[in-house]
Amino acid sequence: MSSTEIVLLVFGALLFLALGSFCCVIIDRLPKPLDEPNELGELWDTRPWGEVFGGNSRCSDCGEPVKFYDNIPVLSWLVLRGKCRGCGQRIPAFHPIVELLCPVLFLLCVWSLGWGWQLLPVLWLIPVGVTISAIDLRTLMVPTRIVWPAFAVSVLLTVAAAGLLGEWRWLITAAVGLAVFAGPLFLLWFALPAGMGFGDVRLAVLLGWTLGFYAGQRPIAGAFLAVLCLGASAMIGILVGVIALGARGRKAKVPFGPALFMGTLLCILLAQPILQPFGV
Ligand SMILES: [Zn+2]
Repeated sequence: MSSTEIVLLVFGALLFLALGSFCCVIIDRLPKPLDEPNELGELWDTRPWGEVFGGNSRCSDCGEPVKFYDNIPVLSWLVLRGKCRGCGQRIPAFHPIVELLCPVLFLLCVWSLGWGWQLLPVLWLIPVGVTISAIDLRTLMVPTRIVWPAFAVSVLLTVAAAGLLGEWRWLITAAVGLAVFAGPLFLLWFALPAGMGFGDVRLAVLLGWTLGFYAGQRPIAGAFLAVLCLGASAMIGILVGVIALGARGRKAKVPFGPALFMGTLLCILLAQPILQPFGV
């Protein structure tokens, strides 16, 4: 590894540590609990972005502003033992987990895909996927406010990466990945709307595009990878489901977003070794 690469690696890990903090603010503030279920039976709404980012960081309980030295990712949570300095209210454990997960996933992506423009779209999926997964685990919703703008950015990044690499065909594979990944979920939602939320279909549109991009030149490879990814996500989903049912009781609804994100990331990171032996 060259010294430039080491500097980039350290800089990137620190950047993603800070991004993790930023994700926590969104996970904390974007979902807005409703006093009673709305007409769709949902218990949560989302706040507009202005409200999410308005003002300094504050304790969500006592409103005490968070001092800069209490705002250091992971470390502050450990020093404060997960409690607000002002009122002693518990700071949820997802804070240090999310803050740590972002740089760890960053390092995994660099390790697996190497430096280059091809990294851009998957790096973008890290904060987006982690935030959506955490919100889905907390509230069982996949917020439109995140998914569609994130999808627009994903498309821009893949177009930029394809242009810089001179690999325009990857975009066709991306479209195939989207169709094969999101299509079956759309049909499932259409046939059994009670079984799955439309939020998961939206999320699959976002994830499927980037997944397909990493299958490379041949559209058939994108379709193949998307089918494998559906299988992997379903298996992870069953695992998450068993844990969720254990923790929340038998009638609990199961969030599928985290499984879709984990399955996609796994398939992107392993795309080359997965596709090679099949010759697709
Ligand atoms: Zn407080």
